[in-house]
Amino acid sequence: QPQVFDTIIIGAGAAGLMCAGVAAMRGRRVLVLDHAQNVGEKIRISGGGRCNFTNLFAKPENFVSQNPRFCISALNRFTQHDFIKMVQDAGIAYHEREHGQLFCDNSATDIIDMLVKRCTTSGAHLQLHTAITGVEKLDSGFRVETDRGIFAGTSLVIATGGYSIPKIGATGFGHALAKRFGLRVVPTRAGLTPLTFEGELLNRIKDLSGIAVEARIRSNKADFTEALLFTHRGLSGPAILQISSYWNEGDTLRIDLAPGQDAFDVLITAKHATPKQDVATAVATLLPKRLAKLLVDEAGGPGRLCETGDKTLKRVADIINDWRVTPSGSEGYRTAEVTVGGVDTRDLSSKTLETKTVPGLYFIGEVVDVTGELGGFNFQWAWSSGFAAGQYV
Ligand code: FAD
Repeated sequence: QPQVFDTIIIGAGAAGLMCAGVAAMRGRRVLVLDHAQNVGEKIRISGGGRCNFTNLFAKPENFVSQNPRFCISALNRFTQHDFIKMVQDAGIAYHEREHGQLFCDNSATDIIDMLVKRCTTSGAHLQLHTAITGVEKLDSGFRVETDRGIFAGTSLVIATGGYSIPKIGATGFGHALAKRFGLRVVPTRAGLTPLTFEGELLNRIKDLSGIAVEARIRSNKADFTEALLFTHRGLSGPAILQISSYWNEGDTLRIDLAPGQDAFDVLITAKHATPKQDVATAVATLLPKRLAKLLVDEAGGPGRLCETGDKTLKRVADIINDWRVTPSGSEGYRTAEVTVGGVDTRDLSSKTLETKTVPGLYFIGEVVDVTGELGGFNFQWAWSSGFAAGQYV
């Protein structure tokens, strides 16, 4: 005989734990199942161990989805301020960093402990180290078979996250289950991940590995000004991680390596003031020396300013203010912070996160086609969607 619950949640990560606490506080009998040894492994490693748990300025525009409006309802009903209040009530010390990002002062485990405490004090059962071997729809509810027992629940919540970092237990379980129940899944790809180059371009920039500059990066869909880091495989840093979630194979990026400065103006002024100076030296007033040299070489390697025509200087300036590069790929799920794409929001209620075609089946968190930008937005989506479902299951 299966053990019977009102709600079974698969995935004891950010969204699953949030949902479990909310549902159990409503008096629902809740079971959370996870194949991992520990709950909330991604919370634990997030934000360099300090968990960037939300963002003061979170708004729907910070999320990527085929339907950018889908996230509005859940984000409105459980906002960043609601989560901050939970953190404050739990006595967790935190601080604000740039762009409104909030981090724990001590450790990300403070957040895990808070979520687990909310679950256990309200009577939710957490069962870890449990492999799910089968999920079936019954006339009323669901039957979940595992290597540690059979369970039945009136509702079933899938909170198994995305593909990122398979090493700590990420799987495509939720996506596969969605397909099996006839739901559409928006094709997935790695997001918030470094971008890589190949061939000639990689050969040229490899030597710049370690150099960081403030840059403005644009694609046809997004525009970020943040730090950019050259690596031995391509480009990284917050500006690149951000744009990677909007980047599709073949897309060219436009990079302004001296945002807010008109490089042509700087070069013409230098030409008049110090005509004997090398172009590369003049560019090095804007950028690190090695990067300056690479960009000047890309423009044909002109020598002294006085010997260089304005047209060539314009070419150099264009490379500085509008460098165009086409990455060959990304570093993929191995290092990605999120998975872009997922369960198609057309098949879900934006209010409850319940599927439209399978009553009682819910999808929350990263498994859904809602992806946050860098800065605490992905956790906010996990909290908001977990809360929304938790109120209805
Ligand atoms: P998860 O938290 O990934 O939880 C999914 C759970 O499901 C896991 O416990 C997993 O073990 C379980 N599971 C998976 N497959 C199965 C299966 N087949 N059977 C049983 N259980 C299964 N976001 C931020 O907002 N701020 C940050 O600072 C931040 N830092 C990050 C740093 C790193 C290195 C990474 C990888 C991500 C970071 N993120 C951050 C993103 C954030 O961690 C995720 O978006 C968030 O955890 C998603 O929550 P979730 O509950 O949907 O999924």
